[in-house]
Amino acid sequence: MNKYGGRVHTRFPPEPNGYLHIGHAKSICLNFGTAEEFGGLCNLRFDDTNPSQEDTEFVEAIKEDIRWLGFSWGDRLYYASDYFDQLYEFAVQLIKKGKAYVCDLTPEQIREYRGTLTQPGKESPYRNRSIEENLDLFERMKNGEFPNGAKVLRAKIDMASPNLNMRDPVIYRIMHEPHHRTGNKWCIYPMYDFAHPLSDAIENITHSICTLEFEDHRPLYDWFIDNLITGDKPKQYEFARLNLTKTVTSKRKLRKLVEKGYVSGWDDPRMPTLAGYRRRGYTPESIRDFCNRIGVAKANSTVDIALLEHCLREDLNAKAPRVMAVLDPVKVVITNYPEGQTEKLEAENNPENPAAGHRQILFSRNLFIEREDFMEDPPKNYFRLSPGKEVRLKHAYIIKCEQVIKDEEGKIVEIHCTYDPDTKSGGPAAGRKVKGTLHWVSEAEAINAEVRLYDYLFLDDEPEASTYCEVELEPDQEEDEDDFLSKLNPNSLKILKNCKVESILRDALPGSKFQFLRQGYFCADLKDHSPQNPVFNRIVGLKDSWAKAKQKK
Ligand code: ATP
Ligand code: MG
Repeated sequence: MNKYGGRVHTRFPPEPNGYLHIGHAKSICLNFGTAEEFGGLCNLRFDDTNPSQEDTEFVEAIKEDIRWLGFSWGDRLYYASDYFDQLYEFAVQLIKKGKAYVCDLTPEQIREYRGTLTQPGKESPYRNRSIEENLDLFERMKNGEFPNGAKVLRAKIDMASPNLNMRDPVIYRIMHEPHHRTGNKWCIYPMYDFAHPLSDAIENITHSICTLEFEDHRPLYDWFIDNLITGDKPKQYEFARLNLTKTVTSKRKLRKLVEKGYVSGWDDPRMPTLAGYRRRGYTPESIRDFCNRIGVAKANSTVDIALLEHCLREDLNAKAPRVMAVLDPVKVVITNYPEGQTEKLEAENNPENPAAGHRQILFSRNLFIEREDFMEDPPKNYFRLSPGKEVRLKHAYIIKCEQVIKDEEGKIVEIHCTYDPDTKSGGPAAGRKVKGTLHWVSEAEAINAEVRLYDYLFLDDEPEASTYCEVELEPDQEEDEDDFLSKLNPNSLKILKNCKVESILRDALPGSKFQFLRQGYFCADLKDHSPQNPVFNRIVGLKDSWAKAKQKK
C-alpha cells in the first residue's frame, strides 16, 4: 500500500436497480472497512448508467441499508450520472486519438463479428471511419438523430485479442429513455466498463475493489485509464463473490421474486436483502461479524448459512431479553391454587447479562403451556408433562399432572394439575429437582399475539447453481434463468394467530428483539406490530448447527 503516497481511497459502487443483499454487505464491509483500517476514505457512488432499470426508490433504500450496517460515506455521495458530461468528453478524446469509432453494425452482427474464445473476431466495416466522421456521428448520436440500436461507439483495440473484452467493446449506446437524475438530457449512455474506471479516476480512487468475474475486464479497465488519465491511476483488485447456501444473491432474481409476488416485497423477512434481514430481526453487528469472519478470498466458494446464523445467535444471546411465549397453547388448571388469586414472581431478563435485571410475571390458577409439552402416553425418556408426572414451570412452581380433560373428538382441552407451594424460588423446597422445565404464561397475564415462523426461501443448498449469469447482459440478450423459481420452499412461512405471550410484549417497540424461552429469537415486526395487534417474527431458532459441528471437530 505504498502507492499514492500511502493514500487509501475506495468506493462502493451499487447500481440502483434493486435492494442490497448479503453479497453487497460483504463488499460494503470490505470497501468501507479497508478505508477505515488504513485511515482512508470510502465513497458511495451510484453506478446509474442504465436508466431502464434504475429508480430513486432503490437509491434511498441503498443509502438506508449502508447506514444501518454502520458505515458512513460522509459528504462523498456521488453518481456516475454526475459525470456524464466528463465521460462524453473522454469519449471524444478517444475518438480524436483514433481510438474509438462509431459502428453501424446491429447488436447481432456485433456479436457475430466478435468471434469466440477459439476464433479471432472480424473487424467491423465501420472501423476505419475518419476521425472527423466519427466526431460528427457521435455528436449526432448525442443529439438524438438516431433510433435505439442504430449505432454505437466502440473502442478501437484489437479484434484478434485472446481476451474477448478487448475486441472493440461498445462504450456508448443509444437509449431514448429518461434517466432518474438527468431526465431527458441524454439519449446515449456509457457502458459500465467505460464509466467505471473513469469514475474511479475522477474521484481519485486508489483501490477499485470488485468481484472476480471482472478479472477479465481488468485489461480494459487499464486501457481506458492509460489512454485517458495522467497522474495517479486507480487500480482494480478482485475478490470472490459471496455465495451463501440456501440463498439466491442475484439482484435480477430477487427482483423477480418481488415482481412476481413470491414474497411480500424487497423487505420480506425471508429475503436475503439487508432490508429483509433488518425486518426479520438480524442485527447489523451480526452481519458485519459474519463478513469479517468469512474474510476475503481469491477463489469462489459457497459459505454455509449456518455461519451467518451462528454470528446472529452469538449477538442476540448477549443482547436479547428472555421472555415466555406459548405458540400453540393448551390450558392448564392448577386445581389447588385459589380461584381469583394471582401472585407476582421474579424472572431474570438475561442470564448472560446480569445488568439486564429482572421483571415480574404473574402466576394464576389458569395458565398455558405448549401443546407439544404434554403427552398422554409418553415414551420412556420423556421429561415434559404427562399423567402423574412432575415438571417445573420456569421461574415458578413444580406442578403434577392429575387429570386430562378432552372434548368429544378426543382433543385435549385442559390439563388439570396440582402445584407444590414450597417449590418456588426462596421457598423451603426450592431446590427440589425434577427433570423437565417448561415455559408457560398465566391466563392472568397473557396477551394474544401473531407469530410468523419463517423458514428458508430455498431448501436447496445451491438454488442458483445451474444458472449463475455474470456481468451485464447486452440489452437484447434474453435470460433463461427462471429455473430457481421451481426450487422455492412452499412452506417458508407459517403464521400462528393465537399465541399467548407475556404482557410486556404488548409495548415492545417495533424492531425490538427477544428470546422466547426454548423457542428461539423473535422480533417485533417493524411494519405490522402494534400494542393492539402484536406481531412477532421468528428470527432464528436456538439450535446452533455451526457451533455443534465445530465442537465435533
Ligand atoms: P447482482 O449480481 O446481484 O446484480 P451486481 O454486482 O450487479 O450484483 P452492483 O450493484 O453492481 O450489483 O454491486 C455493487 C458492488 O457489490 C459491486 O462492487 C459488486 O462487485 C459487489 N457485489 C455484488 N454482489 C456481490 C456478492 N455476492 N459478493 C460480494 N460482492 C458483491
Ligand atoms: Mg453490477
